[in-house]
Amino acid sequence: MKLNIQARAKINWTLDVVGVLPNGYHDLDMLMQSVTLCDEMTIEDAETCTLSVSAQDGTLVPADGTNLVLRAAAALQRETGCTRGAKMTLKKYIPVAAGMGGGSSDAAAALVGLNHLWGLKLSMDDLERIGLGIGADVPFCIRGGLQRAQGVGERLTPIALHHDLHLVAFQPCLGLSTKEVFTALHEDGILDSDRPDNEAAQSALIAGDAAALGRAMGNVLEPVSRRMRPQLDEAIRAIEASGACGARMTGSGSAVFGVYSDAKACERAAAELAKRYPTCRMITTAPCGVVIEEV
Ligand code: ATP
Repeated sequence: MKLNIQARAKINWTLDVVGVLPNGYHDLDMLMQSVTLCDEMTIEDAETCTLSVSAQDGTLVPADGTNLVLRAAAALQRETGCTRGAKMTLKKYIPVAAGMGGGSSDAAAALVGLNHLWGLKLSMDDLERIGLGIGADVPFCIRGGLQRAQGVGERLTPIALHHDLHLVAFQPCLGLSTKEVFTALHEDGILDSDRPDNEAAQSALIAGDAAALGRAMGNVLEPVSRRMRPQLDEAIRAIEASGACGARMTGSGSAVFGVYSDAKACERAAAELAKRYPTCRMITTAPCGVVIEEV
């Protein structure tokens, strides 16, 4: 059996830190969204687990045991005692260290794909539990769509999105390490004015109201990341000037996105922004995180 899998990226409509958990991690409250931009994986039967990685833009992503795909395969074998292998290939299209859940979506794709290939019959809840051991965003990437994500991101509540929304996204500068951004947040603190309005953003998403969504979006990590990467300011201003209803950084950065009132406005803005930011592309909201096709 051979599987072609799409591992979809995510963006954060909102990201708020609402407290500290008993284990010392930040208690988050976020609206997370799968989008059409994706990495492409293939998985097929083999004696042992192997991975080859290629990146469109030449970015270096390790293909060794530190890659989240191989960590996901090892976690699945440990959990189930399965001794089968798989030959896996990964084509990276999601920018790296961008806050778009690149590695997490690949881990999610590996868990869902290998569960199918190896006939393990684990439930989605089981896969999410195993995924959480690999990374906080992996459970979201397995479920996908639009979710209110709380705790470290593992407490997921699905929200029905009735209208596709159109966005631009790109990484205007070098990547950022999630750990470094959270450490810097600890030193800088959070201003109330940087907080998103999660309730208003959720209502706007349900109503398909891009203008109200733009006003309610927010990310408490943005000021810290903007200080570390001043190019983020310029990129967000450029998206705003292109007619977006709102522009923000996603996750801990360093990718930024903008949301538009309709597909035409988004297409025009993407073409204009691409002159200055060649990696800028138009993307659309997606209803799930992992898409599997048997070939
Ligand atoms: P998140 O949004 O989940 O916080 P991110 O999008 O900011 O993550 P990634 O693209 O996942 O960050 O990359 C973070 C680091 O993880 C990279 O420096 C890379 O070396 C490592 N990594 C491990 N596996 C992968 C993978 N499959 N794809 C990309 N990076 C990976």
